[in-house]
Amino acid sequence: MVSSKKGPSSRHLFSKRVDKRSRAEMTAYLSGHFRYDTMRSWNRSTSYACNMKLYNLGLDREMTDKLWDLIQVSEFYYQLNDLIEGFNRRHNYLWQAGWNGRSGGYLVLYEGGSEPSEYRSYCTYCGQKNYTSIAKTGTRCGVCNKGTRVDFIKPPIKIFSYPGRSVDMDEDFEDWSIYELQQRTELVQEFDRLADDIVVEALYIAQNHSLEERTVYIPTTELVLV
Ligand SMILES: [Zn+2]
Repeated sequence: MVSSKKGPSSRHLFSKRVDKRSRAEMTAYLSGHFRYDTMRSWNRSTSYACNMKLYNLGLDREMTDKLWDLIQVSEFYYQLNDLIEGFNRRHNYLWQAGWNGRSGGYLVLYEGGSEPSEYRSYCTYCGQKNYTSIAKTGTRCGVCNKGTRVDFIKPPIKIFSYPGRSVDMDEDFEDWSIYELQQRTELVQEFDRLADDIVVEALYIAQNHSLEERTVYIPTTELVLV
């Protein structure tokens, strides 16, 4: 689907400039934005999304083939997910980006949130978390059996999302204030920039690593980034 004559200059950009003084321009940007299911199509909920399937990125054939190999490697996603985690953290998890689609491929904007978890203590040796304070249950860890449990100073947060909740579906934005429109436009623009950053990072990884087959322990062969 990608012409082999296409050079890197034709790379598809997700982010767009929007005049945030113009109600019409912001409304057109938000209403015209690509959307995708938040769960499965039967759920009928959609949100702002970016089609990040390889054929849609405007890359040359060689790079597309290389990325095709890379997306089979789970380590590749860990690096990209750092970018996603940064976006989520900046929005206090009220907004979260996540992959959806049969084989990933679509980056979707989700609503979510965070709250203090119920965990009160953890094991400094093996990391096991526990719902009771060491004042109640002592310092011995039930998993590794070492006396290395300590209380959390601040309980870790629990992150949740609403994968079934649609975002601005069938919204005409008519009764939105200009401020609300600006806020939403900035959020979606930042989401689009995240998609661009993910592509840039993916290209960087592709250019700086080669895949080699390494035999790991007994009979499993897996691909690793080197
Ligand atoms: Zn332990």
